[in-house]
Amino acid sequence: MAIYDVIVVGAGIEGSSTAYQLAKQGKRTLLLEQFPLPHSRGSSHGQTRITRKAYGELEYYTVMMKEAFPLWETLERESGRKIFRKTGMLAVGSGDAFTRGTVPCLHRHGIPHRVLDYHQIKQLYPMIEYPRDYTFVLDDSAGILMADKALLSYQETFRRFGGELRDGEKVLDIIPGDTVGVRTSSHHYRTHSVVLTVGAWATKLLPKLQLTLPLKVLRISVLYWREKVAGRYGADKFPTFYEMKAVDNYAVFGSPSEEYPGLVKICLHWGPEVDPDSRDKADDSWVIDKMKRYIARHFPELEAEPAIAETCMYTMSPDTDFILDRHPSWRNIIIGAGFSGHGFKIAPVVGKLLTELALNKSPSYDMTKFRIQRFQHNAKL
Ligand SMILES: Cc1cc2nc3c(=O)[nH]c(=O)nc-3n(C[C@H](O)[C@H](O)[C@H](O)COP(=O)(O)OP(=O)(O)OC[C@H]3O[C@@H](n4cnc5c(N)ncnc54)[C@H](O)[C@@H]3O)c2cc1C
Repeated sequence: MAIYDVIVVGAGIEGSSTAYQLAKQGKRTLLLEQFPLPHSRGSSHGQTRITRKAYGELEYYTVMMKEAFPLWETLERESGRKIFRKTGMLAVGSGDAFTRGTVPCLHRHGIPHRVLDYHQIKQLYPMIEYPRDYTFVLDDSAGILMADKALLSYQETFRRFGGELRDGEKVLDIIPGDTVGVRTSSHHYRTHSVVLTVGAWATKLLPKLQLTLPLKVLRISVLYWREKVAGRYGADKFPTFYEMKAVDNYAVFGSPSEEYPGLVKICLHWGPEVDPDSRDKADDSWVIDKMKRYIARHFPELEAEPAIAETCMYTMSPDTDFILDRHPSWRNIIIGAGFSGHGFKIAPVVGKLLTELALNKSPSYDMTKFRIQRFQHNAKL
């Protein structure tokens, strides 16, 4: 049996980006996905994701985003698809850590941004209403990524670089060793190292490797609200936005009417905890109720009821930082997990880091924030 250099398990955006980087470096790479592709059961489906360099006080993500932007451009060139659209991102809030931390951080990194007051905001975006004492910060470099196109582009380009992608093949067991065994629903493979980027299913696969991380899977309601006047919140007029402490301390984010004509995506950054295999059983009526009140207060030119509700999942770590590390007992088992609802935009850099770990190279960034070790008091290692 031939031995792969690396097997990547899970073809969401993090696994697909990792597999692409490995194949691009000429490594014999297999990417395995449990569901037939494309699918909408994980965290990477849908038409758009917000991308930005504004990251509040979390400067290490701003630094990673400075590399992510040109890496997305590389993928655009290689795939021939337009993936990024610039819209800007408006952070709104009253003295929260995000608006407070964003300005000095963007300033330090020379990233174009504007701090606006209520009157300036009303001139620029008369279709929103926030309190007069709020702070408004516009990250001019931000925009939206065409998520489905980005995912497909990584997978197609991976194949073009010689990678093998097998979908509809669930990984059942990982057998550690000098070479790692990977047993799926239909095959048994061997590889020098394995990267596990299984999204919400990390809660199911990792315990089989004696690793239980404090991850929480949330069902997120992706809500689309109809414009009273079509085009009012179009991408040429309205930015993406983020309010950190919008509703009972939960954040709210949104993007212009781009995905479905006349509909604006505005969502709560939280939801009920679920099992990823029975995601749709959870009751999310409280999310819809909270969001209806938010829309009535801040978006007077949208209709009061959501027109469409779709579903996605977050895999939250307790500190919302990613987990990018080796298994504590086996160096050739690499884990990328806990992307906590903000991992799409950074996927090119995540893929680069997971590739470096899989190939036993020193990572290009300080990995302290992403280590499993930080959960040592909670995790059953
Ligand atoms: C509503 C919503 C809005 C978001 N907005 C943003 C945003 O604006 N900006 C941003 O940066 N991020 C955003 N995110 C977060 C981002 O989308 C996620 O962090 C990212 O998609 C996580 O990707 P993943 O590859 O880890 O997970 P997934 O996409 O879930 O991929 C994991 C894959 O592994 C497969 N798998 C699992 N178990 C197995 C197995 N045993 N064998 C084989 N395959 C397996 C799954 O089927 C799945 O395809 C948002 C997420 C949601 C839900």
